[in-house]
Amino acid sequence: MKTPYYSYNLNLLERTLQDLIFEAKNYKIHYAIKANNDIQINKIIAKFGLGADCVSGNEILHALKCGFSNNKIVFAGIGKSDEEIEIALNNNIACFNVESLQELKVINYVAKRLNKKTSVALRINPNINVDTHQYIKTGINENKFGISFNQILKAIEIIDSCHFISLTGLHFHIGSQITNLRNFEYLAKKVNFILNYIEEKGIKIKHINLGGGLGIDYDSPYENSIPNFKKYFNVFKKHLTTKPYHTVHFELGRSIVGQCGDLITTVLYIKKGISKKFAIVDAGMTDLIRPALYQAKHLVVKCKTEFNEIEKYDIVGPICESSDKFISNYSIEKLKRGDQLKIKSVGAYGQVMVSEYNLRTKPGVFYHGEKLHFETRNSTKKLILN
Ligand SMILES: *Cc1c(COP(=O)(O)O)cnc(C)c1O
Repeated sequence: MKTPYYSYNLNLLERTLQDLIFEAKNYKIHYAIKANNDIQINKIIAKFGLGADCVSGNEILHALKCGFSNNKIVFAGIGKSDEEIEIALNNNIACFNVESLQELKVINYVAKRLNKKTSVALRINPNINVDTHQYIKTGINENKFGISFNQILKAIEIIDSCHFISLTGLHFHIGSQITNLRNFEYLAKKVNFILNYIEEKGIKIKHINLGGGLGIDYDSPYENSIPNFKKYFNVFKKHLTTKPYHTVHFELGRSIVGQCGDLITTVLYIKKGISKKFAIVDAGMTDLIRPALYQAKHLVVKCKTEFNEIEKYDIVGPICESSDKFISNYSIEKLKRGDQLKIKSVGAYGQVMVSEYNLRTKPGVFYHGEKLHFETRNSTKKLILN
């Protein structure tokens, strides 16, 4: 198959979903469509009964097309347009996650025009500074997301005065690729405090949505191909105080799809610099922007190991930007023109961010369902030790 292309392991996806559903027994899980909107992948996720967390009108239409039921769709995002609000209302989605006071009024206005009542959840900014890359932190005060704590009562006042919206939930989302579970413990404790504060005023909340953000192991995708959902949910079981009438929701994206995708690319040229060697591959930042955008590191392995000696390369793409680099000073088996490489763990925020910059052709897609243990680990073991 012509490289570069995304290769998805649907068997791993299904095993990840099985594990998630088993561990999340008492919770409702919405899949964050923005992590990967591939139709085959989304159809599988919908079949497992998950809901969908959408951040645009088109994502709502896409989720419906892939089989997610409308009463399990929530609509988040700080900049919902009037047209997008209409799409959501016309499809009777479950809930809007609202991010500003003005948005409450606009949703009410559009709902009144369409004569449709709807539910809203307030997205509250819990001011938690998680340890992840600064571009994917979303829960600190200076972020653009959510309503601050001191605006909650004002928001509730506005909802009371609007006849076409009613408050059903609270929503939180503190960031992405969070691997230190302490952050979720802080979140749970903040939520307890905020929930208590609101309910003390006689306002009943039906659902609490704790967002997504559970990270995956980019360093060891073979060892940890399925995230530790048990540990993650245990944090909330232990630290979140809920009442029997509360339902608890999560919106996971990366942790569901991240490990099921590889980007396959071919080495075009080996070039010697002054003190470095470059392996120039046919995939670039147009195919996978995470390294350029968030300094993300993905494991790179040879598709076929030849047990050659190890050398160091900067693995770079063909785009006319210096940031078009997958990894620097990377130890890997000696490479030559024509070698195929696998860039691991690209199932989330990979294909969805493909662009046609430089008028590049978009990468292809390939699905396979073989068991993960068929993949050779020989070539990667050396890398992990290096
Ligand atoms: C992106 C996003 C998610 C999913 O985040 P992951 O890190 O992929 O789990 C969940 N909720 C909201 C509101 C988001 O914006």
